[in-house]
Amino acid sequence: MVTTVDAVVVGAGLSGLVAARRLQRAGLRVRVLEARTRVGGRMVSTSTPHGAVVDLGGQWGGVSHHRFAALLDELALETVASHYDGQGVFHWQGRRVVAPLADRFDQSLLFFEPEALGLPGAELAATRQLQRAFADLVAQIDPMRPWITAGAQQLDRLTVAQWVSQHSTVPLARLPFDWLCRVGGSGGFEPWETSILHLAWTQAVAPQAESPEAWLVRGGAGQVPPLLVDALEAGDPGCVQLGQAVVAINQSAEGVSVATADGQWHQASSAIVAVPPQLRLGISFDPPLPAAHRALLQRSPMGGMTKILAVYARPFWRGQGLNGLGIGDLAALELTADSGPPEGTPAVLASFMAGERALTLGALPAAERRQLILSDLMTYWGPEAGQPLDLIEQPWNAEPWSGGAFTGFVGPGTWTSHARLAAGEQGGPAPAAHGRVLWAGTEVSPRWPGYFEGAIDAGEQAAAALLER
Ligand SMILES: Cc1cc2nc3c(=O)[nH]c(=O)nc-3n(C[C@H](O)[C@H](O)[C@H](O)COP(=O)(O)OP(=O)(O)OC[C@H]3O[C@@H](n4cnc5c(N)ncnc54)[C@H](O)[C@@H]3O)c2cc1C
Repeated sequence: MVTTVDAVVVGAGLSGLVAARRLQRAGLRVRVLEARTRVGGRMVSTSTPHGAVVDLGGQWGGVSHHRFAALLDELALETVASHYDGQGVFHWQGRRVVAPLADRFDQSLLFFEPEALGLPGAELAATRQLQRAFADLVAQIDPMRPWITAGAQQLDRLTVAQWVSQHSTVPLARLPFDWLCRVGGSGGFEPWETSILHLAWTQAVAPQAESPEAWLVRGGAGQVPPLLVDALEAGDPGCVQLGQAVVAINQSAEGVSVATADGQWHQASSAIVAVPPQLRLGISFDPPLPAAHRALLQRSPMGGMTKILAVYARPFWRGQGLNGLGIGDLAALELTADSGPPEGTPAVLASFMAGERALTLGALPAAERRQLILSDLMTYWGPEAGQPLDLIEQPWNAEPWSGGAFTGFVGPGTWTSHARLAAGEQGGPAPAAHGRVLWAGTEVSPRWPGYFEGAIDAGEQAAAALLER
Protein backbone atom coordinates (compact mmCIF):
# COMPACT_ATOMS: atom_id res chain seq x y z
CA MET A 1 0.00 0.00 0.00
CA VAL A 2 1.34 3.46 -0.88
CA THR A 3 0.23 6.71 0.77
CA THR A 4 1.28 10.15 -0.40
CA VAL A 5 1.69 13.13 1.95
CA ASP A 6 3.85 16.27 2.03
CA ALA A 7 6.16 15.16 4.84
CA VAL A 8 6.77 12.03 6.88
CA VAL A 9 7.97 12.30 10.48
CA VAL A 10 9.62 9.20 11.93
CA GLY A 11 9.13 8.91 15.70
CA ALA A 12 6.29 10.28 17.86
CA GLY A 13 8.47 11.40 20.76
CA LEU A 14 8.34 15.03 21.84
CA SER A 15 10.70 16.11 19.06
CA GLY A 16 8.85 14.40 16.22
CA LEU A 17 5.46 15.62 17.46
CA VAL A 18 6.67 19.21 17.76
CA ALA A 19 8.09 19.01 14.22
CA ALA A 20 4.82 17.55 12.89
CA ARG A 21 2.82 20.26 14.62
CA ARG A 22 4.90 23.01 13.05
CA LEU A 23 4.55 21.46 9.57
CA GLN A 24 0.81 20.92 9.93
CA ARG A 25 0.34 24.50 11.09
CA ALA A 26 2.16 25.63 7.94
CA GLY A 27 -0.47 23.78 5.90
CA LEU A 28 1.46 20.62 5.06
CA ARG A 29 -0.11 17.17 5.10
CA VAL A 30 2.01 15.16 7.54
CA ARG A 31 2.21 11.50 8.46
CA VAL A 32 3.87 10.56 11.78
CA LEU A 33 5.09 6.97 11.95
CA GLU A 34 5.77 5.57 15.41
CA ALA A 35 7.26 2.13 16.09
CA ARG A 36 5.73 1.67 19.52
CA THR A 37 2.05 1.16 20.24
CA ARG A 38 2.14 4.37 22.28
CA VAL A 39 3.41 7.89 21.70
CA GLY A 40 5.90 9.91 23.76
CA GLY A 41 9.08 7.83 23.60
CA ARG A 42 11.12 8.90 26.65
CA MET A 43 8.30 11.20 27.84
CA VAL A 44 5.70 8.93 29.36
CA SER A 45 3.62 8.70 32.55
CA THR A 46 1.89 5.77 34.17
CA SER A 47 -0.55 5.20 37.00
CA THR A 48 0.81 3.06 39.82
CA PRO A 49 -1.35 0.32 41.45
CA HIS A 50 -2.20 2.82 44.22
CA GLY A 51 -3.27 5.42 41.69
CA ALA A 52 -0.32 7.82 41.73
CA VAL A 53 0.64 9.26 38.36
CA VAL A 54 4.42 9.08 37.90
CA ASP A 55 6.78 9.88 35.05
CA LEU A 56 8.71 6.82 33.89
CA GLY A 57 10.90 9.00 31.67
CA GLY A 58 11.76 12.68 31.94
CA GLN A 59 9.95 14.80 34.50
CA TRP A 60 11.74 18.09 35.28
CA GLY A 61 11.92 21.41 33.54
CA GLY A 62 14.71 23.90 34.09
CA VAL A 63 15.11 27.58 34.81
CA SER A 64 16.23 28.26 31.21
CA HIS A 65 13.90 25.74 29.51
CA HIS A 66 11.84 28.46 27.88
CA ARG A 67 10.57 26.40 24.94
CA PHE A 68 9.31 23.67 27.22
CA ALA A 69 7.63 26.19 29.53
CA ALA A 70 5.96 27.92 26.56
CA LEU A 71 4.68 24.60 25.21
CA LEU A 72 3.15 23.71 28.58
CA ASP A 73 1.52 27.12 28.71
CA GLU A 74 0.03 26.57 25.30
CA LEU A 75 -1.28 23.15 26.35
CA ALA A 76 -2.72 24.68 29.54
CA LEU A 77 -0.59 22.43 31.76
CA GLU A 78 0.49 23.76 35.13
CA THR A 79 4.03 23.68 36.49
CA VAL A 80 4.98 23.39 40.16
CA ALA A 81 8.32 24.14 41.83
CA SER A 82 10.43 21.09 42.70
CA HIS A 83 10.59 20.53 46.45
CA TYR A 84 14.01 21.53 47.76
CA ASP A 85 12.92 22.98 51.12
CA GLY A 86 14.88 21.52 54.00
CA GLN A 87 18.09 19.53 54.10
CA GLY A 88 19.34 16.74 51.91
CA VAL A 89 21.33 13.60 52.74
CA PHE A 90 24.88 13.02 51.55
CA HIS A 91 26.41 9.58 51.95
CA TRP A 92 30.14 9.01 51.61
CA GLN A 93 32.40 6.17 52.78
CA GLY A 94 29.95 4.87 55.37
CA ARG A 95 28.93 8.27 56.77
CA ARG A 96 25.42 9.66 56.38
CA VAL A 97 25.34 13.44 56.69
CA VAL A 98 22.23 15.62 56.78
CA ALA A 99 23.23 18.93 55.22
CA PRO A 100 21.81 22.06 53.60
CA LEU A 101 21.95 22.65 49.87
CA ALA A 102 24.18 25.38 48.45
CA ASP A 103 22.61 28.37 46.72
CA ARG A 104 24.53 27.70 43.51
CA PHE A 105 25.42 24.34 41.95
CA ASP A 106 28.78 25.63 40.72
CA GLN A 107 29.80 26.45 44.29
CA SER A 108 28.50 23.19 45.73
CA LEU A 109 29.65 19.65 46.15
CA LEU A 110 26.83 18.00 44.21
CA PHE A 111 24.23 20.54 45.35
CA PHE A 112 25.41 20.49 48.99
CA GLU A 113 27.06 23.27 50.93
CA PRO A 114 30.61 21.77 50.91
CA GLU A 115 31.62 23.05 54.34
CA ALA A 116 28.53 21.48 55.93
CA LEU A 117 29.51 17.94 54.91
CA GLY A 118 32.11 17.39 57.61
CA LEU A 119 34.70 16.24 55.09
CA PRO A 120 38.47 16.53 55.66
CA GLY A 121 39.59 19.99 54.56
CA ALA A 122 42.43 18.74 52.36
CA GLU A 123 40.13 16.36 50.45
CA LEU A 124 37.55 19.08 49.98
CA ALA A 125 40.21 21.52 48.75
CA ALA A 126 41.53 18.98 46.23
CA THR A 127 38.00 18.32 45.00
CA ARG A 128 37.23 22.03 44.65
CA GLN A 129 40.46 22.54 42.73
CA LEU A 130 39.54 19.82 40.24
CA GLN A 131 36.03 21.22 39.88
CA ARG A 132 37.54 24.61 39.05
CA ALA A 133 39.88 23.08 36.46
CA PHE A 134 36.88 21.39 34.85
CA ALA A 135 34.87 24.64 34.89
CA ASP A 136 37.77 26.35 33.10
CA LEU A 137 37.69 23.65 30.45
CA VAL A 138 33.89 23.93 30.04
CA ALA A 139 34.27 27.68 29.53
CA GLN A 140 36.62 27.05 26.59
CA ILE A 141 34.27 24.71 24.71
CA ASP A 142 32.66 25.96 21.51
CA PRO A 143 29.25 24.21 21.63
CA MET A 144 29.18 23.81 17.85
CA ARG A 145 32.84 22.87 17.43
CA PRO A 146 34.26 21.21 20.53
CA TRP A 147 37.10 19.94 18.32
CA ILE A 148 38.63 23.44 18.11
CA THR A 149 39.21 23.59 21.90
CA ALA A 150 42.92 23.96 22.71
CA GLY A 151 44.35 20.44 23.04
CA ALA A 152 41.05 18.93 21.85
CA GLN A 153 42.50 15.77 20.37
CA GLN A 154 44.36 14.90 23.55
CA LEU A 155 41.33 15.74 25.72
CA ASP A 156 39.13 13.63 23.48
CA ARG A 157 41.40 10.61 23.80
CA LEU A 158 41.49 10.86 27.58
CA THR A 159 38.57 9.29 29.43
CA VAL A 160 36.96 11.21 32.28
CA ALA A 161 38.37 8.64 34.73
CA GLN A 162 41.90 9.06 33.32
CA TRP A 163 41.70 12.86 33.42
CA VAL A 164 40.55 12.80 37.04
CA SER A 165 43.25 10.39 38.15
CA GLN A 166 45.91 12.41 36.30
CA HIS A 167 44.91 15.46 38.36
CA SER A 168 44.12 14.00 41.76
CA THR A 169 44.55 10.88 43.83
CA VAL A 170 41.89 11.95 46.36
CA PRO A 171 38.89 9.57 46.12
CA LEU A 172 36.41 12.37 46.92
CA ALA A 173 37.58 14.30 43.83
CA ARG A 174 36.19 11.51 41.63
CA LEU A 175 32.68 11.79 43.06
CA PRO A 176 31.35 14.91 41.25
CA PHE A 177 32.69 13.62 37.94
CA ASP A 178 31.31 10.10 38.37
CA TRP A 179 27.97 11.67 39.26
CA LEU A 180 27.96 14.07 36.29
CA CYS A 181 28.66 11.13 33.95
CA ARG A 182 26.04 8.83 35.43
CA VAL A 183 23.13 11.15 36.21
CA GLY A 184 24.16 14.73 35.54
CA GLY A 185 22.12 15.93 32.63
CA SER A 186 23.17 13.96 29.61
CA GLY A 187 23.93 11.04 31.90
CA GLY A 188 23.92 7.30 31.76
CA PHE A 189 27.57 6.66 30.97
CA GLU A 190 30.54 5.60 33.08
CA PRO A 191 33.56 7.89 33.48
CA TRP A 192 35.64 5.42 31.47
CA GLU A 193 33.17 5.30 28.58
CA THR A 194 33.64 8.81 27.24
CA SER A 195 36.25 11.53 27.05
CA ILE A 196 36.72 14.53 29.29
CA LEU A 197 36.10 16.61 26.15
CA HIS A 198 32.63 15.08 25.80
CA LEU A 199 31.78 15.61 29.47
CA ALA A 200 32.90 19.24 29.19
CA TRP A 201 30.77 19.65 26.05
CA THR A 202 27.68 18.31 27.86
CA GLN A 203 28.16 20.94 30.56
CA ALA A 204 28.76 23.68 27.97
CA VAL A 205 25.50 22.93 26.15
CA ALA A 206 23.37 21.74 29.08
CA PRO A 207 24.83 23.25 32.25
CA GLN A 208 23.85 21.67 35.54
CA ALA A 209 24.51 25.13 36.97
CA GLU A 210 21.36 26.41 35.18
CA SER A 211 19.13 24.24 37.43
CA PRO A 212 17.53 21.88 34.92
CA GLU A 213 15.54 20.24 37.73
CA ALA A 214 13.74 23.39 38.90
CA TRP A 215 10.09 22.46 38.29
CA LEU A 216 7.69 19.65 37.49
CA VAL A 217 4.54 19.35 35.41
CA ARG A 218 1.51 18.93 37.62
CA GLY A 219 -0.05 15.59 36.74
CA GLY A 220 3.08 14.38 34.91
CA ALA A 221 5.19 15.45 31.92
CA GLY A 222 3.81 12.41 30.11
CA GLN A 223 0.56 14.30 29.47
CA VAL A 224 2.29 16.34 26.77
CA PRO A 225 2.64 13.83 23.89
CA PRO A 226 -1.02 12.66 23.91
CA LEU A 227 -2.16 16.32 23.91
CA LEU A 228 0.08 17.06 20.92
CA VAL A 229 -1.34 14.02 19.15
CA ASP A 230 -4.92 15.13 19.86
CA ALA A 231 -4.20 18.47 18.22
CA LEU A 232 -2.54 16.83 15.19
CA GLU A 233 -5.39 14.34 14.79
CA ALA A 234 -7.97 17.11 15.07
CA GLY A 235 -6.36 18.74 12.03
CA ASP A 236 -5.93 15.51 10.07
CA PRO A 237 -7.47 12.33 11.50
CA GLY A 238 -5.22 9.26 11.17
CA CYS A 239 -2.04 11.33 10.69
CA VAL A 240 -0.28 9.67 13.67
CA GLN A 241 0.16 5.95 13.11
CA LEU A 242 1.31 3.61 15.87
CA GLY A 243 3.05 0.24 15.56
CA GLN A 244 4.75 1.49 12.38
CA ALA A 245 8.49 0.86 12.65
CA VAL A 246 10.28 2.56 9.79
CA VAL A 247 12.81 0.21 8.19
CA ALA A 248 13.84 1.98 4.98
CA ILE A 249 14.01 5.46 3.49
CA ASN A 250 14.76 5.74 -0.22
CA GLN A 251 15.04 9.04 -1.98
CA SER A 252 15.22 10.40 -5.50
CA ALA A 253 15.17 13.88 -7.03
CA GLU A 254 11.37 13.85 -6.68
CA GLY A 255 10.96 12.85 -3.06
CA VAL A 256 11.29 10.20 -0.38
CA SER A 257 9.70 6.76 0.01
CA VAL A 258 9.47 5.55 3.58
CA ALA A 259 8.85 1.86 4.26
CA THR A 260 7.52 0.37 7.48
CA ALA A 261 8.15 -3.14 8.80
CA ASP A 262 4.71 -4.31 7.66
CA GLY A 263 5.45 -3.41 4.05
CA GLN A 264 3.58 -0.12 3.72
CA TRP A 265 5.15 2.73 1.76
CA HIS A 266 4.66 6.43 2.39
CA GLN A 267 5.73 8.92 -0.25
CA ALA A 268 6.49 12.52 0.55
CA SER A 269 8.64 15.46 -0.50
CA SER A 270 10.81 15.18 2.61
CA ALA A 271 11.15 13.31 5.87
CA ILE A 272 12.19 14.22 9.40
CA VAL A 273 13.77 11.40 11.39
CA ALA A 274 13.30 12.08 15.12
CA VAL A 275 14.69 8.92 16.75
CA PRO A 276 17.71 8.47 19.07
CA PRO A 277 20.90 8.60 16.92
CA GLN A 278 21.87 4.96 17.25
CA LEU A 279 18.41 3.82 16.11
CA ARG A 280 19.06 5.51 12.74
CA LEU A 281 21.32 2.50 12.12
CA GLY A 282 18.21 0.29 12.10
CA ILE A 283 16.87 2.15 9.07
CA SER A 284 18.21 1.31 5.62
CA PHE A 285 18.91 4.50 3.67
CA ASP A 286 19.21 4.64 -0.11
CA PRO A 287 21.41 6.41 -0.98
CA PRO A 288 23.28 5.23 2.12
CA LEU A 289 24.39 7.58 4.88
CA PRO A 290 27.92 8.96 4.38
CA ALA A 291 30.65 6.83 5.97
CA ALA A 292 31.49 9.45 8.64
CA HIS A 293 27.84 9.68 9.67
CA ARG A 294 27.59 5.90 10.05
CA ALA A 295 30.87 5.81 11.97
CA LEU A 296 29.54 8.52 14.30
CA LEU A 297 26.32 6.58 14.92
CA GLN A 298 28.30 3.39 15.61
CA ARG A 299 30.16 5.33 18.31
CA SER A 300 27.02 6.92 19.82
CA PRO A 301 25.57 4.46 22.35
CA MET A 302 22.66 5.25 24.62
CA GLY A 303 23.25 5.63 28.34
CA GLY A 304 22.43 2.99 30.93
CA MET A 305 19.40 4.04 32.99
CA THR A 306 16.70 2.55 35.17
CA LYS A 307 14.31 4.97 36.83
CA ILE A 308 12.75 3.95 40.12
CA LEU A 309 9.62 5.50 41.56
CA ALA A 310 8.82 4.84 45.21
CA VAL A 311 5.32 6.01 46.16
CA TYR A 312 4.41 6.56 49.82
CA ALA A 313 1.23 7.38 51.71
CA ARG A 314 2.76 10.72 52.72
CA PRO A 315 6.06 12.57 52.21
CA PHE A 316 7.30 11.58 55.69
CA TRP A 317 10.79 13.02 55.00
CA ARG A 318 9.34 16.54 54.64
CA GLY A 319 7.98 16.33 58.17
CA GLN A 320 11.56 15.69 59.36
CA GLY A 321 12.87 18.81 57.62
CA LEU A 322 14.35 16.76 54.76
CA ASN A 323 13.91 17.56 51.09
CA GLY A 324 14.32 14.09 49.55
CA LEU A 325 17.61 14.88 47.76
CA GLY A 326 19.94 11.98 48.50
CA ILE A 327 23.33 11.67 46.80
CA GLY A 328 26.32 9.49 47.54
CA ASP A 329 28.16 6.24 47.09
CA LEU A 330 25.49 3.64 47.86
CA ALA A 331 25.19 0.26 46.12
CA ALA A 332 22.31 0.92 43.74
CA LEU A 333 20.97 4.47 43.61
CA GLU A 334 22.95 7.46 42.30
CA LEU A 335 20.34 9.95 43.38
CA THR A 336 16.92 10.21 44.99
CA ALA A 337 14.70 13.28 44.66
CA ASP A 338 11.31 14.35 45.96
CA SER A 339 9.10 14.30 42.88
CA GLY A 340 5.80 15.21 44.46
CA PRO A 341 3.88 18.48 44.21
CA PRO A 342 4.09 21.19 46.92
CA GLU A 343 1.05 19.79 48.75
CA GLY A 344 2.87 16.46 49.11
CA THR A 345 0.56 13.93 47.48
CA PRO A 346 1.27 11.83 45.62
CA ALA A 347 4.40 11.40 47.74
CA VAL A 348 7.06 10.17 45.35
CA LEU A 349 10.80 9.65 45.55
CA ALA A 350 12.33 9.27 42.08
CA SER A 351 15.71 7.50 41.94
CA PHE A 352 18.10 6.36 39.26
CA MET A 353 20.26 3.28 38.76
CA ALA A 354 22.63 4.60 36.15
CA GLY A 355 25.50 3.57 33.88
CA GLU A 356 26.76 0.01 34.30
CA ARG A 357 24.51 -0.59 37.30
CA ALA A 358 21.40 -0.25 35.18
CA LEU A 359 22.55 -3.41 33.43
CA THR A 360 24.44 -5.31 36.14
CA LEU A 361 21.80 -4.80 38.83
CA GLY A 362 19.14 -5.20 36.16
CA ALA A 363 20.42 -8.74 35.63
CA LEU A 364 19.86 -9.72 39.29
CA PRO A 365 16.71 -11.57 40.37
CA ALA A 366 13.94 -8.99 40.90
CA ALA A 367 13.61 -9.69 44.65
CA GLU A 368 17.35 -9.22 45.21
CA ARG A 369 17.37 -5.94 43.27
CA ARG A 370 14.29 -4.69 45.14
CA GLN A 371 16.11 -5.38 48.41
CA LEU A 372 19.13 -3.36 47.29
CA ILE A 373 16.91 -0.46 46.24
CA LEU A 374 14.94 -0.47 49.49
CA SER A 375 18.12 -0.71 51.50
CA ASP A 376 19.50 2.43 49.79
CA LEU A 377 16.20 4.27 50.26
CA MET A 378 16.26 3.39 53.98
CA THR A 379 19.88 4.50 54.33
CA TYR A 380 18.91 7.89 52.97
CA TRP A 381 15.44 8.36 54.45
CA GLY A 382 15.05 5.95 57.37
CA PRO A 383 12.94 2.82 58.00
CA GLU A 384 9.68 4.27 56.63
CA ALA A 385 11.32 4.44 53.20
CA GLY A 386 11.43 0.63 53.21
CA GLN A 387 7.62 0.42 53.06
CA PRO A 388 6.55 2.12 49.81
CA LEU A 389 2.98 1.61 48.62
CA ASP A 390 4.35 1.10 45.12
CA LEU A 391 7.89 0.53 43.87
CA ILE A 392 8.08 0.90 40.10
CA GLU A 393 11.20 0.13 38.06
CA GLN A 394 11.54 1.36 34.49
CA PRO A 395 14.61 -0.15 32.79
CA TRP A 396 15.18 1.99 29.69
CA ASN A 397 17.85 -0.28 28.24
CA ALA A 398 15.23 -3.01 27.89
CA GLU A 399 13.17 -0.77 25.56
CA PRO A 400 14.20 -1.58 21.99
CA TRP A 401 12.82 1.71 20.61
CA SER A 402 14.89 3.77 23.06
CA GLY A 403 17.93 1.57 23.62
CA GLY A 404 18.76 3.33 26.90
CA ALA A 405 18.60 6.79 28.50
CA PHE A 406 18.79 9.60 29.35
CA THR A 407 20.39 10.18 26.00
CA GLY A 408 23.09 9.22 23.50
CA PHE A 409 26.74 9.98 24.16
CA VAL A 410 29.95 9.47 22.19
CA GLY A 411 32.92 7.23 22.87
CA PRO A 412 36.48 8.57 23.44
CA GLY A 413 38.04 10.08 20.34
CA THR A 414 34.75 10.52 18.51
CA TRP A 415 34.32 14.30 18.67
CA THR A 416 37.67 15.05 17.06
CA SER A 417 37.32 12.41 14.36
CA HIS A 418 33.98 11.08 13.12
CA ALA A 419 31.74 13.74 14.69
CA ARG A 420 33.89 16.52 13.23
CA LEU A 421 33.89 14.87 9.81
CA ALA A 422 30.16 14.11 9.90
CA ALA A 423 29.15 17.61 11.02
CA GLY A 424 31.34 19.36 8.45
CA GLU A 425 31.35 23.14 8.19
CA GLN A 426 28.13 23.75 10.10
CA GLY A 427 29.44 21.96 13.21
CA GLY A 428 27.13 20.81 15.99
CA PRO A 429 26.15 17.40 17.32
CA ALA A 430 24.42 16.26 14.12
CA PRO A 431 25.46 16.05 10.49
CA ALA A 432 23.70 18.19 7.90
CA ALA A 433 20.58 16.77 6.33
CA HIS A 434 20.91 13.64 4.21
CA GLY A 435 19.32 14.94 1.01
CA ARG A 436 15.60 15.19 1.67
CA VAL A 437 15.94 13.63 5.12
CA LEU A 438 16.34 16.01 8.07
CA TRP A 439 17.38 15.00 11.57
CA ALA A 440 15.53 15.81 14.79
CA GLY A 441 15.43 14.26 18.26
CA THR A 442 16.90 15.80 21.39
CA GLU A 443 20.45 14.63 20.64
CA VAL A 444 20.52 16.86 17.54
CA SER A 445 20.14 20.13 19.43
CA PRO A 446 23.21 22.18 20.38
CA ARG A 447 21.28 23.62 23.36
CA TRP A 448 19.97 21.25 26.05
CA PRO A 449 20.49 18.03 24.08
CA GLY A 450 19.25 15.11 26.18
CA TYR A 451 16.43 17.21 27.65
CA PHE A 452 12.86 18.06 26.65
CA GLU A 453 14.11 21.52 25.78
CA GLY A 454 16.56 20.08 23.24
CA ALA A 455 13.88 17.79 21.81
CA ILE A 456 11.60 20.79 21.16
CA ASP A 457 14.45 22.87 19.73
CA ALA A 458 15.52 20.06 17.38
CA GLY A 459 11.94 19.41 16.22
CA GLU A 460 11.32 23.08 15.54
CA GLN A 461 14.64 23.55 13.73
CA ALA A 462 14.08 20.52 11.50
CA ALA A 463 10.56 21.66 10.62
CA ALA A 464 11.78 25.19 9.88
CA ALA A 465 14.54 23.85 7.62
CA LEU A 466 12.06 21.64 5.79
CA LEU A 467 9.65 24.54 5.27
CA GLU A 468 12.45 26.77 4.03
CA ARG A 469 13.10 24.27 1.27
C1 LIG B 1 14.48 8.17 32.94
C2 LIG B 1 14.58 9.45 32.18
C3 LIG B 1 14.64 10.65 32.87
C4 LIG B 1 14.73 11.85 32.17
N1 LIG B 1 14.66 13.03 32.86
C5 LIG B 1 14.49 14.19 32.18
C6 LIG B 1 14.09 15.37 32.85
O1 LIG B 1 13.81 15.34 34.05
N2 LIG B 1 14.00 16.53 32.13
C7 LIG B 1 14.25 16.56 30.78
O2 LIG B 1 14.16 17.63 30.18
N3 LIG B 1 14.57 15.43 30.10
C8 LIG B 1 14.66 14.25 30.77
N4 LIG B 1 14.89 13.08 30.10
C9 LIG B 1 15.16 13.14 28.66
C10 LIG B 1 13.89 13.38 27.83
O3 LIG B 1 12.92 12.45 28.23
C11 LIG B 1 14.25 13.20 26.36
O4 LIG B 1 15.29 14.10 26.03
C12 LIG B 1 13.11 13.49 25.39
O5 LIG B 1 11.90 12.91 25.81
C13 LIG B 1 13.52 12.93 24.04
O6 LIG B 1 12.52 13.15 23.07
P1 LIG B 1 12.80 12.74 21.56
O7 LIG B 1 11.54 12.96 20.82
O8 LIG B 1 14.02 13.39 21.08
O9 LIG B 1 13.15 11.18 21.59
P2 LIG B 1 12.27 9.93 22.04
O10 LIG B 1 11.42 10.30 23.18
O11 LIG B 1 13.22 8.81 22.22
O12 LIG B 1 11.33 9.66 20.81
C14 LIG B 1 11.75 8.91 19.69
C15 LIG B 1 10.55 8.13 19.17
O13 LIG B 1 10.94 7.46 17.98
C16 LIG B 1 10.39 6.15 17.99
N5 LIG B 1 11.19 5.34 17.09
C17 LIG B 1 12.45 4.89 17.24
N6 LIG B 1 12.86 4.22 16.15
C18 LIG B 1 11.82 4.24 15.27
C19 LIG B 1 11.62 3.72 13.96
N7 LIG B 1 12.57 3.04 13.29
N8 LIG B 1 10.42 3.92 13.35
C20 LIG B 1 9.42 4.62 13.98
N9 LIG B 1 9.57 5.13 15.23
C21 LIG B 1 10.76 4.95 15.86
C22 LIG B 1 10.46 5.75 19.45
O14 LIG B 1 9.57 4.70 19.75
C23 LIG B 1 10.10 7.05 20.16
O15 LIG B 1 8.72 7.16 20.38
C24 LIG B 1 14.80 11.86 30.76
C25 LIG B 1 14.74 10.65 30.07
C26 LIG B 1 14.60 9.46 30.76
C27 LIG B 1 14.44 8.18 30.01
